[in-house]
Amino acid sequence: MDVYSYFELVERLAPPVRLDVGQPDVPPPEELLEELRRLLRFPYGPSQGLEELRERIAAMWKVDPYEVAVTVGAKQGLAALLHAFRHAPVKLYSPYYPGYMGIARVFGVPLDIRVTSMEDMWEPVPSGPGTYIVNYPNNPTGIVPSRERFRAIVEEARFVISDEVYRWVAFEEAPSALDYGGLEKVAVVDSFSKALSIPGLRLGYVVSSRDVIRRVREFVAATSTSPPTGPQLAVARSFDVLERRRAELSRVYSERAAAFLSKLRLPCVRPMGTFYVFPRVGCSGLAFAERLLSRGISVFPGTFFGAEDHIRVSLVQPLDVLLKAADVINSTPCA
Ligand code: PMP
Repeated sequence: MDVYSYFELVERLAPPVRLDVGQPDVPPPEELLEELRRLLRFPYGPSQGLEELRERIAAMWKVDPYEVAVTVGAKQGLAALLHAFRHAPVKLYSPYYPGYMGIARVFGVPLDIRVTSMEDMWEPVPSGPGTYIVNYPNNPTGIVPSRERFRAIVEEARFVISDEVYRWVAFEEAPSALDYGGLEKVAVVDSFSKALSIPGLRLGYVVSSRDVIRRVREFVAATSTSPPTGPQLAVARSFDVLERRRAELSRVYSERAAAFLSKLRLPCVRPMGTFYVFPRVGCSGLAFAERLLSRGISVFPGTFFGAEDHIRVSLVQPLDVLLKAADVINSTPCA
């Protein structure tokens, strides 16, 4: 079973407690909704993204607006970059976000999977030069590597695609790959999906060298003409809410993770960001997830993330619902 057929199964069974989706339950900011209501006409825009938005992003990263490309979700930025680097193996640490697999399959990108372990707190081990795709805070484990490890990877790499969409849900200040390497060897991919609770508006961006950004822009032009115009304007005009959001999301989800894990009796590395926890169940995660489904709770099996005997629980329900779910998980046998 793959992610999409599992998802269909969950949709069909409609369990009362959905802890599978990776979508924050904190509603979008009112300022943004107001801008969206005002922007009734949405024409095509420039393929690199609206200047108004690129300027705000560039100022946030202290780069030039030409070093920013707006994309249709972080996903399109990831697709553009993996496509650009498809001629040599791309190193990817497991557990990983399954979206990379889908992109790699479509574009024939060879992936060189490097396993990390729960015993080692999911810390990635640098593995020589080459292209890497890294994702911290990590979906599904929630971890952020030590600064030494992160630095060593970026220093050894020829190029790093750094998926930083969870920088908005970081319990301590999360490092960026750009702290350790310049734009000539790093592309940061980010998204407004999690930051502003607008996954359906499909808005993300890439920060990198002009050369890499030119290739991302070409990819966007070829596949979607431009990123969506109305949402770009609305986000540009409510950009000031982002810092407040980071504080709010980080507080809500760090409190939930702490409370949920203090109740859960499965071994689990404490997350340092995201709204996920990735406990070990000690048997097939798929069988465990199916057993939970029959008890009214949906989670994602670890198989989809490259770690068989785990489940990913999304903490996107109120705390009382999560604590009841922890009881159910605790009392669900493995076999
Ligand atoms: N990267 C990671 C690690 C994610 O978890 C997700 C969404 N779940 C994405 C990228 C895709 O984000 P977007 O909605 O901006 O395409």
